[in-house]
Amino acid sequence: MTDQKATYEFKAETKKLLDIVINSLYTERDVFVRELISNAADALEKFRHASITETEVFDDHLPLEITIELDEKKNTLTITDTGIGMTKSELEHNLGTIAHSGSNTYLAELVEAAKKDVSLIGQFGVGFYSAFMAGKTVRVQTRSWDKSEGHEWMSDGTGSFTISEMAGLHRGTKVIVELKDEAKDYAQKWKINSIIKQYSAFVSFPIKLEGETVNTVQALWTKNKNDVKDEEYNDFYKFIGNAATDPMYRLHFSADAPLAINALLFVPAENFEVFGFGKVDPGVNLYCQRILIDQHSKNILPEWLRFLKGVVDSEDLPLNISRQALQDNSLVAKLRRVITKRFLKYLDEEATREPEQYLKFWSTFGIYLKEGATSDYEYQKEIGKLLRFESSKSADGTPVSLADYVLRMHPDQEEIYYINGPNRAAIEAGPYVEMFTKKDIEIVYTMEPIDDFVLSHLGEFDGKKLVSADRADLSIAKDEEEAKEEGSAEENTPLDKDALAELTKWMQQVLEKTVSEVVVSKRLVDAPAMIVNPDGHMSSTMERILAAGRKEHGIPGMESSKKKLEINAKNPLIQKLADLHTKDATFAAEVAKQIHDNAMIQAGLVVDPLEMVERNYKILNRVVLN
Ligand code: ADP
Ligand code: MG
Repeated sequence: MTDQKATYEFKAETKKLLDIVINSLYTERDVFVRELISNAADALEKFRHASITETEVFDDHLPLEITIELDEKKNTLTITDTGIGMTKSELEHNLGTIAHSGSNTYLAELVEAAKKDVSLIGQFGVGFYSAFMAGKTVRVQTRSWDKSEGHEWMSDGTGSFTISEMAGLHRGTKVIVELKDEAKDYAQKWKINSIIKQYSAFVSFPIKLEGETVNTVQALWTKNKNDVKDEEYNDFYKFIGNAATDPMYRLHFSADAPLAINALLFVPAENFEVFGFGKVDPGVNLYCQRILIDQHSKNILPEWLRFLKGVVDSEDLPLNISRQALQDNSLVAKLRRVITKRFLKYLDEEATREPEQYLKFWSTFGIYLKEGATSDYEYQKEIGKLLRFESSKSADGTPVSLADYVLRMHPDQEEIYYINGPNRAAIEAGPYVEMFTKKDIEIVYTMEPIDDFVLSHLGEFDGKKLVSADRADLSIAKDEEEAKEEGSAEENTPLDKDALAELTKWMQQVLEKTVSEVVVSKRLVDAPAMIVNPDGHMSSTMERILAAGRKEHGIPGMESSKKKLEINAKNPLIQKLADLHTKDATFAAEVAKQIHDNAMIQAGLVVDPLEMVERNYKILNRVVLN
């Protein structure tokens, strides 16, 4: 070792993290052994890949393995790998900062998650720092595959670390943990052995504990399904998924044609994005003949399937493919299509086989499928089958599929209808469902704003158009019965044709600023009025979301489109209004505006609250005080 030693401060957030690790998470120390072994295994995988893609690598003769040495006298635990190693600048960066950090809330989230389950620490990409749960000092001696000089990194986990040059190192990394008094156990062989058995059984390199190999290296995904026990699958999932609980679903499949594939995919029990992680990294690793070529691959599945964990292995891929080349490799694209379709088919089968379990999946991960439906045209058909929504006919709120809806359609019904609202009660009290209820036509309730985007992207299901019920040209209002009655709306009311025509014309003038047209409704049953959207225009919900998005990002302008107002000639309020506006036009105008605003609110659209409340009091005053 030369005497050149440089001292570096940890980044502020790393300091905070270390403080948490050292002072709050010490109750489940075992985790640190797993994290260091997993880093060693990662480094070995990276080296194996580099040795194929690079022309020259340093110390090529070393066997790829992990060795663990214990010293009960000196209280040290040493984990050595012959992996890729680190250069000086990699050391400085990788072990001085937090790789996955981003948001300010990140650390707070980490503390919360770690309180619930410390094994989540690996999910946050801060595994290395867990060494300080047991170590009073940690030394990392490492030399890169590129043969640059070796270095030693050292820290006691408080404020700073040092890096100094170190001569004579082989390729790879040695982590020396000098154990705290209360963590002396980790220098005992039985202890480390049991941790490896529990957590690291699937490491694909030999782990030698004091000269003895303690794991059997196996690639579970290349085995025959019948030869793998549930427990082995679950353990494997926990290992690769950094998970503490069993997976919700598992799909193990092999194919020879058109591509040779061995794939093992898992759906976790929980959706990690709701823990405040932001977007999770993809969790499926791409192998070729059991050699890892792309960890957490962004290429092997579409982004919206990032919640999956697992392995895809294909012999057809060129072994020496670079990560860049994966991106636009046509074979990878083909693999992605085959695997995605196979997985979606699996979900559909599961939905039929065990509907209740599928609904659990849907409530946890449905949001990703919706993302897929709006962003990925290629799988819309398959995703369409997997969607679930509440509807006017879903018993006690249990979501139904669009296929169920189609089965229940009236013989002459051609379209699938949906309407958005904040909840079931609000939708059912609103004007849009009146005609559907009267005619006993099922209507899908889309309670999440994204749902309208999903259905409008889908466009149709099973050959039936998907139509938002706030559209102006709904065909259910124009069936035969109605055609016979054409013009009869007037007959049911004391208003004659002329009076109605005059009323709509007058209302249109009053509401000129906000409404494109006022028409007599063929759909309304009880409610006085409702807002509808011009044909082919987006639904009110979509418009509201887009407007909110513009506001949030400070994008000005874009007047919201003018709506049509439909009025109900059978409604007493509308009838009275026809009379009132000839006698007291000023007051009648206030009433017309209030009817309009009420209809806007029922459509989920925004009105000017000040103006509305003031007007409302005017009307109340007149009723109560006169
Ligand atoms: P993660 O493993 O999720 O990236 P860690 O905190 O466990 O996060 O490790 C941080 C980084 O340090 C790793 O990404 C890797 O680049 C580097 N590293 C850690 N251990 C080793 C090792 N044994 N060999 C080479 N690099 C390592
Ligand atoms: Mg790690």
